[in-house]
Amino acid sequence: MLEIYACRPEQSRGRRYAEAPAPTRNDFQRDRDRIVHSTAFRRLVYKTQVFLNHEGDLFRTRLTHSLEVAQLGRSIARSLGLNEDLVEAIALAHDLGHTPFGHAGQDALNDCMKDHGGFEHNLQSLRVVDALEERYPEFDGLNLCFETREGILKHCAKRNALMLEALEPGGVAHRFLDGTQPSLEAQLCNLADAIAYNAHDIDDGVRSGLLTLSQMADVSSFAHYHSLTLKQHPHLADVSKSRRLLYETIRQMLSDQVYDVIQVTRENLQSRTPQSADEARRSGALVSFGNSMSAQVQEMKSFLFKHLYRHPQVMQTTANAQIVVRELFEAYTNSPQEMSSDFSLRRETPRAVADYIAGMTDRFATREHQRLTGRQLFA
Ligand code: MG
Repeated sequence: MLEIYACRPEQSRGRRYAEAPAPTRNDFQRDRDRIVHSTAFRRLVYKTQVFLNHEGDLFRTRLTHSLEVAQLGRSIARSLGLNEDLVEAIALAHDLGHTPFGHAGQDALNDCMKDHGGFEHNLQSLRVVDALEERYPEFDGLNLCFETREGILKHCAKRNALMLEALEPGGVAHRFLDGTQPSLEAQLCNLADAIAYNAHDIDDGVRSGLLTLSQMADVSSFAHYHSLTLKQHPHLADVSKSRRLLYETIRQMLSDQVYDVIQVTRENLQSRTPQSADEARRSGALVSFGNSMSAQVQEMKSFLFKHLYRHPQVMQTTANAQIVVRELFEAYTNSPQEMSSDFSLRRETPRAVADYIAGMTDRFATREHQRLTGRQLFA
């Protein structure tokens, strides 16, 4: 079933600590299982995607987002002959390093850490699986395969790439220094991530009332799918059917993006003809949208950025989230004993504080902030 350019578990570059193979699962399946059983994975259910967890029960969280990315990724992988197990493992782990409160939390924590090496959520996802999970007797982390770790490290600043390269020469950060690509499976996860959040943020945005359908009509691609849907299903024009109209519009938009990726990637693979997973890494970005779809997706991203992620109501939450993270950082730095002992006993205080805060769910961070400062910023 796998094409010649797919990653194969039997050709994996291996784990950092050698382990005997599992009797019934290949190495990528085993990685996926380790991720699903990790503590960091369970925390994703209480971490913000765009809306805070307590703002409504139906909004996406980091967990449901990760499941949607895994579903889209696997479905595209299957039709391209890529390794579904690896895609699933990367997709389920790709957001493990996110702080509470989404990007607001990450920006605040990065700011707190600016004199101590900064904070990047992609790098933190790798730290979670390499170091922070404590589940095995003989090593820190989950000891995942190179290919899974490579996919998890989606972006990396040059400074951090140099730091990782010094610890692991020729390892997962090397491509940020030599300009090669990650595996096709990892490239696919990046696109599946964007396809997923553009679609579900429209849904959540409209559900929350922060976006309206008439506003969405300003986005030409959305307007196109909206009128296409109405043409195919005129009865959805009835106001009582507005939710179905929205779903069907999003569904058509999402399907077109998926088909575009599959078709364009096939063409890229046919013209570059990589003969192995490694050759694919040296062949430029092969998993991609075509130019016109890429422009459509970009238009949607800019719209969501301006009208949803920068909506005054979201910005108010963002401002509070940043206060919580900053004040937690200050409180734990001054009194490390306030952290749980596995963090307070570590010697590198600012990094231990950052790891502790990054691991928190929204509600734990909120409760800790209230406990330490006496102030309640979120109801
Ligand atoms: Mg994501």
